[in-house]
Amino acid sequence: MTHAILIRYDEIGIKGKNRPEFVRRLVENIRRATGLSKEEVQVEWGRIYLHPSGDPQKLCDRLAAVFGVKSCSVALVVPHELERICEAAVELARRAVARGARTFKIEARRSFKAFPMTSMEINRAVGRAVLHALPELRVDVHAPDVTIEVEVRSEGVFLCTERIAGPGGLPVGVAGRALLLLSGGIDSPVAGWMLMKRGVAVDAVYFHSPPYVGEKAKEKVLELGRILARWRADALTLYVPPFTEIQVEVSRVAPPPLWTILFRRFMHRVAERIAEQYGYGALATGESLGQVASQTMENLACVDAVTRRLVLRPLIGLDKAEIVRLARAIGTYEVSILPYEDCCVLFAPRHPETHARRERVEALEARLDVPRLVESALERLEIFSVTERDVSAVVASPST
Ligand code: ATP
Ligand code: MG
Repeated sequence: MTHAILIRYDEIGIKGKNRPEFVRRLVENIRRATGLSKEEVQVEWGRIYLHPSGDPQKLCDRLAAVFGVKSCSVALVVPHELERICEAAVELARRAVARGARTFKIEARRSFKAFPMTSMEINRAVGRAVLHALPELRVDVHAPDVTIEVEVRSEGVFLCTERIAGPGGLPVGVAGRALLLLSGGIDSPVAGWMLMKRGVAVDAVYFHSPPYVGEKAKEKVLELGRILARWRADALTLYVPPFTEIQVEVSRVAPPPLWTILFRRFMHRVAERIAEQYGYGALATGESLGQVASQTMENLACVDAVTRRLVLRPLIGLDKAEIVRLARAIGTYEVSILPYEDCCVLFAPRHPETHARRERVEALEARLDVPRLVESALERLEIFSVTERDVSAVVASPST
């Protein structure tokens, strides 16, 4: 008897022509996340099997953060012999009894049609063997304490009792690349996670305002990047343009209620340039309609007006409680609530404009050298590569 991990995927199974690419990407992400070799991963119709040399339970925990995985199970693998199948089923039943199970059911599936018994026959024969070995167990086909799944496949027979839920969704990378405006707040990391769940490879840009905002705030965003990198199954690139000059200039020409909207417009201009240079199909933010005074339809439109690029706002319809619940589940919440201020807290007007008029905003910007400010931020762009393990590896430093 050997062990394997059986991985089920769902949504991606129905994507017709795209299916091979989806599976290929899922396998690649699984290998990246687990560090397994090519030989340890086997792809069969509708299933992925891992044959790890290490602790299978640990691997299942890791798979819980790989999008595209619907569920996984640690399985016993035996050859196509009824006697061996029964032995393995009895072993699994014995473990279940030790955990308190009193009733069971066998659920056989036979995709390997050369096996001489039907699923029903397998159910009966294996059920009999279990009853014989463990007389304290009873069969209950409706609500059993334990279901022993028996999958007869061409490669062998796989038996398992537990399905560990995966995160579902689509494998990261199949739905393009997006550049997330990542602050140190609660919302934007959740927005990034939502996009990754839909198969988008997300990298991030954080606008940093030294010396008004300390290094701690930047480290906090790097830490959020590290958590997101775990879900991304790959390194996440974090772009950090300096934002101080823009904030100082804006606060010089505009009245405080309009600061937020002008800052945001500058962020989108800079982000768009990064997206152009590094090939991102969309920008993304953590905004949700009406959550704070500044996030009204008029204001969002006024920000969108500065770029032609698609801006994704996956949290648009969620309320704060729902976002917090997700942030906790993802693991970003505890970091997000650390008390290091981000740039917008510092230059936050007490009464932000809720219905910014584009003409008014543009008139104020006409008093600034917008292209130069954008260029100047880009010239001093820092770039970090963030993985789950390495908080930050600098791959490019400021050019000035
Ligand atoms: P968050 O919790 O994501 O900060 P929020 O509700 O606090 O969101 P704001 O702080 O007004 O809202 O920011 C709105 C959005 O603008 C954020 O979700 C984020 O996408 C972007 N953003 C704000 N500040 C920054 C920053 N310093 N760097 C990058 N993006 C930012
Ligand atoms: Mg914020």
